[in-house]
Amino acid sequence: MALIVMKFGGSSVGTPERMMNVARRIIARQQEGNQIVVVVSAMGDTTDDLIDLSKKINSNPSAREMDMLLTTGEQVSVSLLSMAIGSINGQAKSFTGWQAGIKTEAVHSKARISSIDPQRIFNAVDNGNVAIVAGFQGVTEEGDITTLGRGGSDTTAVALAAALKADLCEIYTDVDGIYSTDPRIVRVARKLNEISYDEMLELANLGAAVLHPRAVEYAKHYHVKLVVRSSFTQQPGTLVEEDADMEQGVVVRGIAYDKSVARISILGVPDRAGQLANVFTSLANAGIDVDIIVQSGVLHGSADFSFTVGLDDSDKAVEVVQSIQSQIGYRECEVEKNLVKISIVGAGMVSNPGVAAKMFDTIAKMGISIKMVSTSEIKVSCVVELDRFKEIIAELHTAYGLDTATEAFVGGPSDRR
Ligand code: ASP
Ligand code: MG
Repeated sequence: MALIVMKFGGSSVGTPERMMNVARRIIARQQEGNQIVVVVSAMGDTTDDLIDLSKKINSNPSAREMDMLLTTGEQVSVSLLSMAIGSINGQAKSFTGWQAGIKTEAVHSKARISSIDPQRIFNAVDNGNVAIVAGFQGVTEEGDITTLGRGGSDTTAVALAAALKADLCEIYTDVDGIYSTDPRIVRVARKLNEISYDEMLELANLGAAVLHPRAVEYAKHYHVKLVVRSSFTQQPGTLVEEDADMEQGVVVRGIAYDKSVARISILGVPDRAGQLANVFTSLANAGIDVDIIVQSGVLHGSADFSFTVGLDDSDKAVEVVQSIQSQIGYRECEVEKNLVKISIVGAGMVSNPGVAAKMFDTIAKMGISIKMVSTSEIKVSCVVELDRFKEIIAELHTAYGLDTATEAFVGGPSDRR
């Protein structure tokens, strides 16, 4: 008998009809002879709606009270889903995070899970119940309710699967798997049968919104076998595991993009020790994440730095840089906004220099100049101007042999914001 964790996102349980559909799927999976633990998100846009509601009461509410409020969304889902299963003669029991033994560190709004005591869940499934656990929540050592950060139900599911030593963790969502790129941009994007943890982690971090990056980290660390599939169709989905098969000759698995990129350039920086350290320490102290960093060679005693930050952080980053102008002694600071970072990802590109060359060549042939580049063992990212980014992605998709003959299925509203 296998133990399976099934996670359903907000849009999969967004209406009573969808809730019933999910209940039937759960029972069908149980009747195949499996023990089932379910993790569920808040229905539809509930979490966003609760946030909006709180703002009408207090524009700056305490994080503790926000966690108390937001966790109610998942509590509605677990109880209704349990009733839905009861209504078709199944047997289910719902659990909040703390009832399911999920302990977190004492940080509100983005806590990490510190331990899980799965005893009550084991008891429930051993007695023939479907155990239904509220995603996205836990409790501190002191007994305060916490949340795991937006999209955190994926993390609940994977962490529970690890604690229960489940055979499989299925993430049910509103698309039928992980795609080679965004099917709304490239109609001939292909659904991937398999992808490795590392590749998935890159894609998730680069903004492919189907899986929460922290959930992928947990899955890799605890070797949880993950499947991403649709709650609306019977398609098999995408398997995420350590050694995903490389299709023959495929070195690039997927292409991701991030439109929330700004580049900040600091020009004419006098060549002295400690200048880079000063700039990036000041940014770090202001809580600003920096992504790509480039320093030019030193010419006539000065150099240029440029780096990227998230668009939302760019004004703050400029202020930080301006505040240390007298210490650094640079000539000017510029910010560019209409940019996109396009990344190709694939474990097969390690020690294959031709892969990056092909990317540069494809973009160059379109007459587009590349502003910044960064590479890792399994990724090459280029920052370019935003205006033709869809075309670039389509060209790259073709160049790396990722196009399918058929157009991708494009799902409904996403589970993700
Ligand atoms: N309901 C939470 C959110 O919307 C958690 C989740 O859906 O995973 O972020
Ligand atoms: Mg959600």
